[in-house]
Amino acid sequence: MLRRRLLAALAVPAMAALAAFAPLGAQAQNTFPTRSITVLVPFAAGGPTDTVTRLVAEVMGRDLGQPMVVENVGGAGGTLGAARVAQAKPDGYYLLLHHIGMGTTPSLYRRLSYDAVNGFEPVGLVTEVPMTIIARKDIPANNLQELVALIRKEGTGLNYAHAGVGAASHLCGLLLQTAVGTQMTTVPYRGTGPAMTDLIGGTVDLMCDQTTNTTEHIRAGAVRAFAVTTPQRLPSLPDLPTTAEAGLPGMEVTVWHALYAPKGTPADVVNRLSRALQVALRDEKLVARFADLGTAPVAQERATPEAARAFWQADIAKWRPIIEAAGQYAD
Ligand code: ASP
Repeated sequence: MLRRRLLAALAVPAMAALAAFAPLGAQAQNTFPTRSITVLVPFAAGGPTDTVTRLVAEVMGRDLGQPMVVENVGGAGGTLGAARVAQAKPDGYYLLLHHIGMGTTPSLYRRLSYDAVNGFEPVGLVTEVPMTIIARKDIPANNLQELVALIRKEGTGLNYAHAGVGAASHLCGLLLQTAVGTQMTTVPYRGTGPAMTDLIGGTVDLMCDQTTNTTEHIRAGAVRAFAVTTPQRLPSLPDLPTTAEAGLPGMEVTVWHALYAPKGTPADVVNRLSRALQVALRDEKLVARFADLGTAPVAQERATPEAARAFWQADIAKWRPIIEAAGQYAD
């Protein structure tokens, strides 16, 4: 009798707990998000990662019914911002929109305060962006061949701007210097937004950056463009030759971007974010703006956690032997 009562007494709270638990799980799925979400860009405002993030965040916020606020935390090639998200509460309210640096960082930086290989739940890939080789508008070179000759002549007398070791602009600069066979003086910034301001002002000489930052400045004549780093010319900049056409075959690079949540974020939250990302990447205005900036959203099936994780991990594996063979580390 006593045993039966005890069992009954235990069963009631257990059932109540179960009953309470089931709707809670469903509730998280149905109600997330209940407040605004922050998306951290690990580079300064005004640069290409920032531009992509702001366009995507606006449409995602509409689909989620809550604003997505963009926060810029630049420095150390994007690792300062990435660390902040990796260490945040895994509840879906603090996200990271990063680029190819997620593939290079684990090999380039040997001492990090976060797990750069496993510390995130990918939400989905966003876009792959071409780069352009650009210089201050009064640089004494009219085409890529003349620029190459100038780099060989001036060497470290020329200042090459980038967004920190492991940033896309840094990698593109390494490719350029290797192709030309000459080192320049490199000048790190917290992002290529502020680097662009200095390039336009003529304080630095050269840069290589995503079209999402350079297109409008090239069209306005504020900087001089020499080549685009893709096998085909871009409809958005039809007069700009490819690196192969301009005399540096093999110098091809595009910059992939993806959205991440901290490791441990519940799958239903990650999936809800991924659905909102897919909606954003289908948005007509966003697609048109991306096209005007020389890029396009990834196909819908790539804006998923699985596709992003596979691509990210493959990129880490791709860069590791290259970086180890070069023996050049950021720390
Ligand atoms: N485009 C920059 C880079 O070099 C980063 C940025 O400012 O978005 O990676």
